[in-house]
Amino acid sequence: MPMTPHKATPLEKIIVERIKADGPMDMGTYMGLCLAHPTHGYYMTRDPLGAEGDFITAPEISQIFGELIGAWVADCWMKLGQPDPFILMECGPGRGTLMCDALRATKHVAGFHDAMQLRLLECSPVLKEKQKQALGQYAPTWCDGVEPDMFEYPTIIIGNEFLDALPVRQMNFNGTEWREICIDININDTLRLYEKRADKAVLSLIPRLLIEPQLGDQIEVSLEQQEFIKNTSAILLKQGGSALFLDYGSAYLVPSDTIQAVKTHKIVDVLERPGEVDITSHIQFAEIARIAMENNVTVHGPVSQSDFLKRLGIDVRAEMLRAHATPKQAQDIQSAVQRLSGVNIKENEMGVLFKVIGLSSDPSITLEGFV
Ligand code: SAH
Repeated sequence: MPMTPHKATPLEKIIVERIKADGPMDMGTYMGLCLAHPTHGYYMTRDPLGAEGDFITAPEISQIFGELIGAWVADCWMKLGQPDPFILMECGPGRGTLMCDALRATKHVAGFHDAMQLRLLECSPVLKEKQKQALGQYAPTWCDGVEPDMFEYPTIIIGNEFLDALPVRQMNFNGTEWREICIDININDTLRLYEKRADKAVLSLIPRLLIEPQLGDQIEVSLEQQEFIKNTSAILLKQGGSALFLDYGSAYLVPSDTIQAVKTHKIVDVLERPGEVDITSHIQFAEIARIAMENNVTVHGPVSQSDFLKRLGIDVRAEMLRAHATPKQAQDIQSAVQRLSGVNIKENEMGVLFKVIGLSSDPSITLEGFV
């Protein structure tokens, strides 16, 4: 039977050439190129969100999600002593839906909007355009990374499904040594997985908890996540402030393979159609907490998204919305709440699959949703 010829994506051709020149590519470099290559990266060329896109996120499921986060931010601002001005930064704001709902919900908090300077961390020109439309009235400005000295005022930072888009490298333990999982090419220039001895630089990123690894342990490490948390912590310590991150992941260290590629809501091979499929990893919140603590901020959680949203009052807010809704709308509100805070993993409910972590500069502050 004749084989269907492999049709490489433009980014795949670039990756193949790089591998020919430099040898096998680590998974982090591959993931970084797939998501954020300046011309062919997945996020650079499309809006992947929503029912017609590749995946759906919490703020796109219900306005309640952003409204509750808005209440969380306003509470933080009060606990910081209502600084004026202060910075509110969202990392990876997608279509701007979360922030739009958050700011609508806080418009009656006296002084809050006047004091706020909105910053958006975003790499995608397509999504920046959507954010301009959704949030233009709040005069946001954009940035492309976090640096310890980037702000001059107290700062509140939030990010939903942002950390999981940062590149991770993958290793497994063969009983004797750590091997790094890389990408190499076959004779016909198609991509394949390839293992090689892990180098010193990547070994130094392995959490100390895994000092005595077992045969078959697999671990994912992310220099980008570590740098991001380190710089975020530095901003908070310098200016005073708090941060909140929500993501798919586990509270504890789980030595397993979690890198996943998704296209039109279906799981596909990580090596399939580079630049045209989303690639994410599950966040190891124990690692995020460790890096934050090493950088001297106070860590709250991680807690499940279910506990977090319930403590912030998701059920009360849903009840309020249902009181003014048609029966069909009331049903939709109920199923959205169930999807966001339910704990049935088989039904893809997000309540336990997603975790929430809070960071703060002031150890005496309690952050809402964590206790
Ligand atoms: N928070 C939104 C979108 C999540 S998708 C929501 O919950 O709906 C991930 C977001 O992070 C997108 O906006 C994407 O463009 C952005 N992003 C991914 N990698 C990034 C990077 N390295 N730097 C800046 N933004 C990035």
